[in-house]
Amino acid sequence: MFKEMLGPKYDAYLAFVRKQMIKDQIESRGVRDPRVLAAMQKVCRHCFVTEDMVSRAYEDYPLPIHANQTISQPYIVALMSELMGLRGGERVLEIGTGSGYQTAVLAELAGTVDTVEILPELAREAKARLEKLGYSGINYKIGSGEGGWPERAPYDAIIVTCAAKTVPVAFTAQLKEGGRLVIPVGEEPQELRLITKTPAGLEESNICAVRFVPMLSRGS
Ligand code: SAH
Repeated sequence: MFKEMLGPKYDAYLAFVRKQMIKDQIESRGVRDPRVLAAMQKVCRHCFVTEDMVSRAYEDYPLPIHANQTISQPYIVALMSELMGLRGGERVLEIGTGSGYQTAVLAELAGTVDTVEILPELAREAKARLEKLGYSGINYKIGSGEGGWPERAPYDAIIVTCAAKTVPVAFTAQLKEGGRLVIPVGEEPQELRLITKTPAGLEESNICAVRFVPMLSRGS
Protein backbone atom coordinates (compact mmCIF):
# COMPACT_ATOMS: atom_id res chain seq x y z
CA MET A 1 0.00 0.00 0.00
CA PHE A 2 2.80 2.41 1.03
CA LYS A 3 4.50 1.60 -2.21
CA GLU A 4 1.62 2.99 -4.28
CA MET A 5 1.14 5.98 -1.97
CA LEU A 6 4.79 7.02 -1.92
CA GLY A 7 5.72 6.18 -5.51
CA PRO A 8 9.34 7.17 -6.17
CA LYS A 9 9.80 8.18 -2.53
CA TYR A 10 9.23 4.59 -1.36
CA ASP A 11 12.90 3.55 -1.42
CA ALA A 12 14.01 6.73 0.32
CA TYR A 13 11.35 6.16 2.97
CA LEU A 14 12.55 2.60 3.59
CA ALA A 15 16.18 3.73 3.75
CA PHE A 16 15.09 6.16 6.45
CA VAL A 17 13.25 3.40 8.33
CA ARG A 18 16.42 1.26 8.17
CA LYS A 19 18.45 4.15 9.57
CA GLN A 20 16.10 4.31 12.54
CA MET A 21 16.31 0.51 12.93
CA ILE A 22 20.09 0.74 13.13
CA LYS A 23 20.05 3.55 15.66
CA ASP A 24 17.28 2.18 17.90
CA GLN A 25 17.80 -1.58 17.72
CA ILE A 26 21.43 -2.16 16.79
CA GLU A 27 23.78 0.68 17.80
CA SER A 28 21.86 1.17 21.03
CA ARG A 29 22.65 -2.45 21.96
CA GLY A 30 26.35 -2.01 21.32
CA VAL A 31 27.08 -3.10 17.74
CA ARG A 32 29.64 -0.55 16.53
CA ASP A 33 31.51 -2.04 13.53
CA PRO A 34 30.97 0.63 10.84
CA ARG A 35 31.11 -1.94 8.03
CA VAL A 36 28.37 -4.01 9.69
CA LEU A 37 26.20 -0.93 10.22
CA ALA A 38 26.70 0.09 6.57
CA ALA A 39 25.73 -3.41 5.39
CA MET A 40 22.59 -3.34 7.55
CA GLN A 41 21.75 0.06 6.03
CA LYS A 42 22.26 -1.24 2.51
CA VAL A 43 20.41 -4.56 2.58
CA CYS A 44 16.64 -4.18 2.14
CA ARG A 45 15.20 -6.53 4.79
CA HIS A 46 11.72 -6.00 3.32
CA CYS A 47 12.98 -7.74 0.15
CA PHE A 48 13.45 -10.97 2.16
CA VAL A 49 10.06 -11.31 3.89
CA THR A 50 6.73 -12.56 2.58
CA GLU A 51 4.38 -9.93 1.18
CA ASP A 52 2.13 -9.87 4.25
CA MET A 53 5.16 -9.05 6.45
CA VAL A 54 6.64 -6.17 4.41
CA SER A 55 5.13 -3.50 6.69
CA ARG A 56 6.80 -5.19 9.69
CA ALA A 57 10.16 -5.82 8.04
CA TYR A 58 12.07 -3.26 10.14
CA GLU A 59 10.61 -4.18 13.51
CA ASP A 60 12.69 -5.62 16.31
CA TYR A 61 11.70 -9.30 15.83
CA PRO A 62 12.36 -12.40 13.83
CA LEU A 63 9.54 -12.91 11.30
CA PRO A 64 8.01 -16.05 9.83
CA ILE A 65 9.08 -17.08 6.33
CA HIS A 66 7.94 -20.16 4.42
CA ALA A 67 8.19 -23.73 5.73
CA ASN A 68 7.82 -22.74 9.40
CA GLN A 69 11.21 -21.05 9.42
CA THR A 70 12.15 -17.50 10.42
CA ILE A 71 14.19 -14.55 9.24
CA SER A 72 16.36 -13.53 12.18
CA GLN A 73 15.89 -10.36 14.22
CA PRO A 74 17.93 -7.49 12.69
CA TYR A 75 19.98 -6.99 15.87
CA ILE A 76 20.97 -10.66 15.97
CA VAL A 77 22.03 -10.55 12.30
CA ALA A 78 24.17 -7.49 13.04
CA LEU A 79 25.62 -8.95 16.25
CA MET A 80 26.56 -12.28 14.64
CA SER A 81 28.05 -10.48 11.64
CA GLU A 82 30.15 -8.29 13.93
CA LEU A 83 31.35 -11.34 15.88
CA MET A 84 32.65 -12.85 12.63
CA GLY A 85 35.23 -10.03 12.57
CA LEU A 86 35.15 -9.54 8.78
CA ARG A 87 37.37 -6.90 7.15
CA GLY A 88 36.60 -7.74 3.50
CA GLY A 89 37.82 -10.49 1.19
CA GLU A 90 37.28 -13.44 3.55
CA ARG A 91 35.85 -16.84 2.66
CA VAL A 92 32.78 -17.48 4.78
CA LEU A 93 30.29 -20.29 5.21
CA GLU A 94 26.69 -19.90 6.37
CA ILE A 95 24.62 -22.86 7.55
CA GLY A 96 20.88 -22.12 7.18
CA THR A 97 20.28 -19.83 4.16
CA GLY A 98 16.60 -19.34 5.09
CA SER A 99 15.38 -16.14 3.45
CA GLY A 100 18.91 -15.20 2.34
CA TYR A 101 18.92 -11.99 4.43
CA GLN A 102 21.98 -12.87 6.50
CA THR A 103 23.59 -14.17 3.28
CA ALA A 104 23.19 -10.72 1.70
CA VAL A 105 24.69 -9.00 4.74
CA LEU A 106 27.66 -11.39 4.57
CA ALA A 107 28.05 -10.73 0.84
CA GLU A 108 28.46 -7.03 1.71
CA LEU A 109 31.13 -7.82 4.30
CA ALA A 110 33.24 -10.70 2.96
CA GLY A 111 34.80 -11.92 -0.29
CA THR A 112 33.19 -15.28 -0.95
CA VAL A 113 30.00 -16.52 0.64
CA ASP A 114 29.00 -20.19 0.61
CA THR A 115 25.57 -21.01 2.01
CA VAL A 116 23.85 -24.31 2.78
CA GLU A 117 20.09 -24.84 3.26
CA ILE A 118 18.37 -28.12 4.01
CA LEU A 119 14.91 -27.16 2.67
CA PRO A 120 15.01 -27.06 -1.16
CA GLU A 121 12.05 -24.65 -1.49
CA LEU A 122 13.72 -22.05 0.74
CA ALA A 123 17.11 -22.53 -0.92
CA ARG A 124 15.66 -21.95 -4.37
CA GLU A 125 13.66 -18.91 -3.28
CA ALA A 126 16.66 -17.36 -1.55
CA LYS A 127 18.90 -17.91 -4.56
CA ALA A 128 16.38 -16.33 -6.94
CA ARG A 129 15.90 -13.38 -4.57
CA LEU A 130 19.62 -12.76 -4.08
CA GLU A 131 20.30 -13.00 -7.81
CA LYS A 132 17.49 -10.56 -8.52
CA LEU A 133 19.05 -8.13 -6.03
CA GLY A 134 22.34 -8.42 -7.93
CA TYR A 135 24.33 -10.61 -5.56
CA SER A 136 26.56 -12.78 -7.69
CA GLY A 137 29.40 -14.96 -6.55
CA ILE A 138 27.45 -16.71 -3.77
CA ASN A 139 27.73 -20.51 -3.78
CA TYR A 140 24.53 -22.35 -2.82
CA LYS A 141 24.12 -25.90 -1.66
CA ILE A 142 20.90 -27.75 -0.93
CA GLY A 143 21.33 -30.35 1.79
CA SER A 144 22.19 -30.66 5.44
CA GLY A 145 24.94 -28.36 6.60
CA GLU A 146 25.76 -30.50 9.65
CA GLY A 147 29.01 -31.53 7.99
CA GLY A 148 29.90 -28.02 6.79
CA TRP A 149 31.17 -27.86 3.20
CA PRO A 150 34.43 -29.85 3.28
CA GLU A 151 35.15 -29.55 -0.45
CA ARG A 152 35.26 -25.76 -0.17
CA ALA A 153 36.92 -25.46 3.27
CA PRO A 154 38.91 -23.95 4.95
CA TYR A 155 36.99 -20.83 5.94
CA ASP A 156 37.90 -17.59 7.69
CA ALA A 157 34.52 -17.59 9.40
CA ILE A 158 31.48 -19.83 9.75
CA ILE A 159 28.03 -18.67 10.89
CA VAL A 160 25.30 -21.07 11.87
CA THR A 161 21.74 -19.69 11.87
CA CYS A 162 20.01 -22.75 13.29
CA ALA A 163 20.66 -24.18 16.74
CA ALA A 164 22.90 -27.20 17.23
CA LYS A 165 22.63 -29.44 20.34
CA THR A 166 26.43 -29.48 20.50
CA VAL A 167 29.07 -27.91 18.25
CA PRO A 168 29.67 -30.21 15.26
CA VAL A 169 33.39 -31.03 14.95
CA ALA A 170 33.19 -30.44 11.19
CA PHE A 171 32.73 -26.71 11.73
CA THR A 172 35.84 -26.12 13.80
CA ALA A 173 37.79 -28.53 11.57
CA GLN A 174 36.87 -26.41 8.54
CA LEU A 175 38.12 -23.13 10.05
CA LYS A 176 41.48 -21.63 9.16
CA GLU A 177 43.81 -20.80 12.03
CA GLY A 178 42.50 -17.55 13.49
CA GLY A 179 39.09 -18.38 12.03
CA ARG A 180 35.85 -17.72 13.90
CA LEU A 181 32.69 -19.78 14.34
CA VAL A 182 29.48 -18.07 15.51
CA ILE A 183 26.84 -20.60 16.54
CA PRO A 184 23.76 -20.95 18.75
CA VAL A 185 24.17 -24.04 20.95
CA GLY A 186 21.96 -26.08 23.28
CA GLU A 187 18.29 -26.09 24.19
CA GLU A 188 15.97 -23.11 23.83
CA PRO A 189 16.89 -20.43 24.69
CA GLN A 190 20.27 -21.32 23.26
CA GLU A 191 23.62 -19.76 24.00
CA LEU A 192 25.24 -17.78 21.23
CA ARG A 193 28.87 -18.86 21.16
CA LEU A 194 31.94 -17.38 19.52
CA ILE A 195 34.64 -20.00 18.99
CA THR A 196 38.06 -18.91 17.71
CA LYS A 197 40.62 -21.36 16.38
CA THR A 198 44.03 -20.42 17.78
CA PRO A 199 47.41 -22.23 17.61
CA ALA A 200 46.79 -23.21 21.24
CA GLY A 201 43.36 -24.70 20.51
CA LEU A 202 39.78 -23.47 20.53
CA GLU A 203 38.86 -20.39 22.53
CA GLU A 204 35.18 -20.15 23.40
CA SER A 205 33.06 -17.35 24.73
CA ASN A 206 29.35 -17.15 25.46
CA ILE A 207 27.82 -14.01 24.09
CA CYS A 208 24.11 -14.03 25.04
CA ALA A 209 20.91 -16.08 25.04
CA VAL A 210 19.21 -16.45 21.64
CA ARG A 211 16.27 -18.29 20.09
CA PHE A 212 16.87 -20.05 16.80
CA VAL A 213 15.00 -22.81 15.02
CA PRO A 214 16.69 -26.17 15.61
CA MET A 215 19.23 -27.59 13.18
CA LEU A 216 17.47 -30.39 11.33
CA SER A 217 19.24 -33.69 10.78
CA ARG A 218 19.45 -35.57 7.53
CA GLY A 219 16.27 -37.59 7.25
CA SER A 220 14.32 -35.59 9.91
N1 SAH B 1 19.83 -16.78 8.15
C1 SAH B 1 18.42 -16.93 7.93
C2 SAH B 1 17.73 -17.53 9.13
C3 SAH B 1 17.15 -18.78 8.73
S1 SAH B 1 16.34 -19.75 9.96
C4 SAH B 1 17.78 -15.65 7.49
O1 SAH B 1 18.41 -14.60 7.63
O2 SAH B 1 16.66 -15.68 6.98
C5 SAH B 1 17.34 -21.19 9.91
C6 SAH B 1 17.43 -21.93 8.62
O3 SAH B 1 18.24 -23.09 8.85
C7 SAH B 1 16.10 -22.47 8.09
O4 SAH B 1 15.91 -22.03 6.78
C8 SAH B 1 16.27 -23.98 8.15
O5 SAH B 1 15.60 -24.67 7.12
C9 SAH B 1 17.77 -24.13 8.04
N2 SAH B 1 18.31 -25.40 8.54
C10 SAH B 1 17.88 -26.15 9.59
N3 SAH B 1 18.65 -27.24 9.73
C11 SAH B 1 19.59 -27.18 8.75
C12 SAH B 1 20.67 -28.04 8.37
N4 SAH B 1 20.95 -29.16 9.03
N5 SAH B 1 21.43 -27.68 7.32
C13 SAH B 1 21.16 -26.53 6.63
N6 SAH B 1 20.16 -25.69 6.94
C14 SAH B 1 19.38 -26.01 7.99
